Amino acid sequence: MPGTLSAVFSLAFVTEQAVHVGAGSKKLVDGDVVRQGCRIRGRPGVPGASMKGVLRARYEAITRSCVPFRLPKGPVRVRSSSGIEHAQLDDRLLDGDVFRSRAEAADGPLCPACALFGRMSLRSRVTLTDFAVGAQVGFDVAEIPEQFSPNLHHVGRGTLRPSREGERGRGDLYEVDALHGRKFAVGRGPVADNARQQKIEVLPAGHVLQGEMRVHNALPRELGGLLVALGWKRGSALKIGGGKAHGFGRIRLQHLVARLRDHAGRPAAMDEAWITSFEQSGDCHVEGMVRLLQIHQGNC
Ligand SMILES: [Zn+2]
Repeated sequence: MPGTLSAVFSLAFVTEQAVHVGAGSKKLVDGDVVRQGCRIRGRPGVPGASMKGVLRARYEAITRSCVPFRLPKGPVRVRSSSGIEHAQLDDRLLDGDVFRSRAEAADGPLCPACALFGRMSLRSRVTLTDFAVGAQVGFDVAEIPEQFSPNLHHVGRGTLRPSREGERGRGDLYEVDALHGRKFAVGRGPVADNARQQKIEVLPAGHVLQGEMRVHNALPRELGGLLVALGWKRGSALKIGGGKAHGFGRIRLQHLVARLRDHAGRPAAMDEAWITSFEQSGDCHVEGMVRLLQIHQGNC
């Protein structure tokens, strides 16, 4: 496509905290159940799909993009020490534009994230390979508090409604009518007093994960957005895998080498002006971008 570029970015991320990307299986070690970490070519690593998920979430947060999943309609059970037993989202929230992929509207444009990372029936223009450690590195075993799925009454502001007649046994209902926004777990979150510890396999801190990001037919402003999402020259770390709020999962871009071609196949060069054209485009959600970069600077 005229005006677009295709590129292979060789990327190296350094693990600043131990990283646990779960393989979905467990094993028994000296009588303890240990959740296994992903292996890439027999070594600790991060699958391309996990890396792409992190990049997409960050790209969504810095652009005016849709939320590509459905939140529950109707009351769901929540865990709370405050007496709230159920929470539900106000119908007007669920009908909001942010939950409607813009392509659903007859011939409306795609949102920036769906356009670049794909959606149902539309192939992604971004591919991430698996990321592996270079040296012969093994797993450590660490402990994290047992993990729970997010509680619905924490996603926004709302009002508490005592159960009405005919709803007996249901307990108080919390109705959310304003969402906080997209969630990124950083720093040290609260740990429940009675939280059970779980053992996990982790790739230790201080190792380098190497892989590639391949991009086809991307506009310069889209490449600019991708570079911001990667944390390039913005000091921003990325958080990946389990235990993000318990001191795990921080990685930081250490090295980036790009090989680029224009639409006619001629070699092209990296250009920092892509970031400016991203920031000045209608795709960019400036407030989200500033906040995302801010919360991922230091000890996140
Ligand atoms: Zn979308």
